[in-house]
Amino acid sequence: MTSFIPNDKISEIKNSADLVDVVSEVVLLKKTGKNYLGLCPFHSEKTPSFTVSPEKQIFYCFGCGAGGTVFSFLMKQEGISFPDAARSLARKYGIEIPITHLSSEQKRLITERENLLSVNKEAMTFFCQTLLKSSEGKSAKAYLLSRRLTEKTIDDFHIGYAPLGWEHLVNHFSKKKMPANLVEKTGLILLKKSRGGYYDRFRNRVVFPIFNLNQQVIGFGGRVLDDALPKYLNSPETPVFNKSRSLYGLNRAKKRCRESDTVFIVEGYFDLLALHQHGIENTVATLGTGLTKEHIRLLKGFVSKFYLVYDSDDSGIKAAQRVIEIFRAEEVDARIVVLPAGHDPDSYLFNSGSEAFMDVVSKALGIIPFLIESAVKKHGLSVEGKIRIISDLKGPLALINDRIARSLYIQKISERIGVDEAAVLEKVRETS
Ligand SMILES: [Zn+2]
Repeated sequence: MTSFIPNDKISEIKNSADLVDVVSEVVLLKKTGKNYLGLCPFHSEKTPSFTVSPEKQIFYCFGCGAGGTVFSFLMKQEGISFPDAARSLARKYGIEIPITHLSSEQKRLITERENLLSVNKEAMTFFCQTLLKSSEGKSAKAYLLSRRLTEKTIDDFHIGYAPLGWEHLVNHFSKKKMPANLVEKTGLILLKKSRGGYYDRFRNRVVFPIFNLNQQVIGFGGRVLDDALPKYLNSPETPVFNKSRSLYGLNRAKKRCRESDTVFIVEGYFDLLALHQHGIENTVATLGTGLTKEHIRLLKGFVSKFYLVYDSDDSGIKAAQRVIEIFRAEEVDARIVVLPAGHDPDSYLFNSGSEAFMDVVSKALGIIPFLIESAVKKHGLSVEGKIRIISDLKGPLALINDRIARSLYIQKISERIGVDEAAVLEKVRETS
């Protein structure tokens, strides 16, 4: 496999790359004596057993036995081959690898990835320029200001505008001599079904570029300026954009996440922007997929405390039921933040401020206690109420694979509502 990259290049990469530096991009490392210690990114754990030796340039996990060099770390962490790991390090440390050593298929894939990223970057510039410099951009700018975003937020997040019309971006790329079939692969333009030619996906929308951790634009989200439908539209999945692994705002949130060991997860672009603008920068947003196992694994590299922020009891309950087993399997503590009725994070922050928001956060419950309290609030503690509470909770409880965890939760429910543990357990068994 190494034949694609000359051996002297491999040694050069090995000598330049710093394992602590590379691992630190995904794992929070603390110095302990000669070594660094952190939570293993390869298995679920609560106490750190993942060590990195800067002297020997190797890592080892006492929990799962994973270990190796900077190359094996990247291969395992990103699920890539040795040559890809070497190439990614070469890029990071500015080492040039002669492209003639690649197979033609590898050349094609690398070039395609890089091309897609550069198309996205060019599109972002186009959208930003249109927002700031064109007459069509004025209404979009006014809309963003009416949502109380500042010029700084608009600038920091490179928010842009895709103008009304069908071929603005198509024409822009054609002027830039970028092949339309390449641009099509980013999902920014689509092939017309009937007459041939292409048209723009994002039309008359404010556009939010989505970045990866390397600050490259991997996709876009767009929102209409009025009540037209669909309200939100995202780029489709592409070779550079995987929604279940990408989080909006993580590129700007990661530093503050590390420092605070805490992340807030919201559901929308404007919610995220409102939190950031109010100084709560350790916030990320999911991209219409809901929270996935991959998101949590990614975030675990930065934080150990998760807050999921929802705008109502109902959406909080639905989400909590869905993620309960993901969080348990990853052994991560998550709390559910539900804002006062009628508010989403965006409206709440602008109306009540960050102090009031943090006050709500301080009262947030863990997933199971949240589900229990929501059910109690909804049904009350009459005999019928208790029956309904158990019936609401048995589904989510049945999703928990770990028997000990499940029996501990059942104990909690039985204490809270005063029903015999065995009776609750029996109900849950009926479901599983
Ligand atoms: Zn491990």
